[in-house]
Amino acid sequence: MRKKIIAGNWKMNKVLSESNQFVNAVVGKVPDSEQVEAIVCAPFPYLSSLVEKTNGSKVKVAAQNMHFEDNGAYTGEVSPVMLKDLGVSHVVLGHSERREYFAETDETVNKKAHAAFHHGLTPIVCVGETLEQREANETKNHVEAQVKKAIEGLSDEQVAETIVAYEPIWAIGTGKTASSEDANEVCSHIRNVIKEVTSEAIAEKVVIQYGGSVKPSNIEELLSQSDIDGALVGGASLEAESFLQLVEAGT
Ligand code: 13P
Repeated sequence: MRKKIIAGNWKMNKVLSESNQFVNAVVGKVPDSEQVEAIVCAPFPYLSSLVEKTNGSKVKVAAQNMHFEDNGAYTGEVSPVMLKDLGVSHVVLGHSERREYFAETDETVNKKAHAAFHHGLTPIVCVGETLEQREANETKNHVEAQVKKAIEGLSDEQVAETIVAYEPIWAIGTGKTASSEDANEVCSHIRNVIKEVTSEAIAEKVVIQYGGSVKPSNIEELLSQSDIDGALVGGASLEAESFLQLVEAGT
């Protein structure tokens, strides 16, 4: 049985005192269960203190992006070496907001996935379609292409470790959630694509999250689906209480 992974993506929110308050409220309250894993995806400036405060707890810390190079003349960028050195365990790659505003492409996501594994970080690879693509019936083809490119050249073991987050862009921050059946249909397609590229045994290990207006009131229904193994949550992950409810739903 795959465990459920609930990741809160704070995006560009909170100041340091709020980050500290959140983590103090959450550490120790996350259910001590093998079934569920909780991850906080925080802005770079808070990673160090979050790693320190979550040390020994069930909460893992992720960055929201990184460069694929180890170091060098890339002003303003943060490398996988730096994240690993801080004790970060996961990194979100290819979020639709990075694809839209910061020129992230399937190619850079693939390079970053390789770099993440090279440095012992687990990537959370985001894929998802626009409303226009959904209406034109292009969802599956689009998501399939994104997944295939993201995992290109990874070993089977690395693919098995990769977390894929299916986030339909039209459902992000809009209050519109994909129906659990529609979300599951795409997540199940993603698993089939991974199976084609690797094998059934590997595909069965991959954790596939859904993201897009997930909240305590709809998470249980989403997690009850056969191929949804967790959630990548924006707005509803900002408050400690609601984040804890989301994690609890995974147990
Ligand atoms: P919301 O949960 O705010 O819709 O955001 C989803 C998301 O983009 C998580 O990465």
